[in-house]
Amino acid sequence: MKKRVVIRRKPFAWKKLVFLSLIIVSSCVGVNRLLSQTSSKNQQQPQASQAQVNPTAKQQQVAALQQQMPASLTKINQHAVMSEELPKQFQGRTIYQAKVNKNAKVIALTFDDGPWTKTTTQILDILQQNNIKATFFVVGKMVQEHPELVQRIVVDGHAIANHTWSHHYHRFNRATAAQEIDRTTDIIYKTTGVKTNLFRPPGGFLNNGLATYAKEKDYAVMMWSVVSADTDPRAKYQAFVNNVLKGAKPGGIVLMHDGGGDRRRTVQALPKIISGLRDKGYTFVTIPELLNMQDGQSRNPQLSSQ
Ligand code: ZN
Repeated sequence: MKKRVVIRRKPFAWKKLVFLSLIIVSSCVGVNRLLSQTSSKNQQQPQASQAQVNPTAKQQQVAALQQQMPASLTKINQHAVMSEELPKQFQGRTIYQAKVNKNAKVIALTFDDGPWTKTTTQILDILQQNNIKATFFVVGKMVQEHPELVQRIVVDGHAIANHTWSHHYHRFNRATAAQEIDRTTDIIYKTTGVKTNLFRPPGGFLNNGLATYAKEKDYAVMMWSVVSADTDPRAKYQAFVNNVLKGAKPGGIVLMHDGGGDRRRTVQALPKIISGLRDKGYTFVTIPELLNMQDGQSRNPQLSSQ
């Protein structure tokens, strides 16, 4: 990843953040929904009644969270936090793809190394135009630099996950691995309200201390099954499209990058990747959705034999 100039934020940056959040939520969720308290209350009723029927520790956590977060974000946070629950069978495991029914043509697009000023926004716009949800493995120090982009990721309904604080490949001892991972989960939580339990090691290195710590802390270590190779500096964007279309399998996880360098070719490739996969009959899910599908099948063997 290129070195970037870190802009030191003044103490009142959080106030700016609240305003930015309001702007993002206004444009993405719909002005009416925010301005009309009555309609907002009506829309929240189904969730509230579910919570009353089956209150869990997770919902108590959400309630506590709502008091810490700007009011404009609480509704979306409630959805996001609750949808991030990780089935037990994936905790502390390394996962390359989901084992789903061959006929279940689902695939997960993942984007690493952001948030990145221009390309993350462009990728979010393309996903929004196509009504697709994806998963973003973000770098902690970039979250600190661009909190508004990370909030848009969550407000748009995508899953967000941990890709370390500084994106280094060297060996980490337990204390430094803990710092890389804990600090990133913490800033994602403080910025969006989502407590992630998905971790992807930079470069996919599983033996430098990071993945070991993540597993110890019950994260699922999320690798990938389809490489777009969008970090290859010499390749044309059509090559990324071909790589993904050739490698796609039901339950697959596609590796792409919205940050960490010049990702204009990824932005060029994405619409063609989406239309190509759609032509093959695929639908798009987030990593939590993909894992929940496998979990549902594992607990319901009849489903997987259909
Ligand atoms: Zn990376």
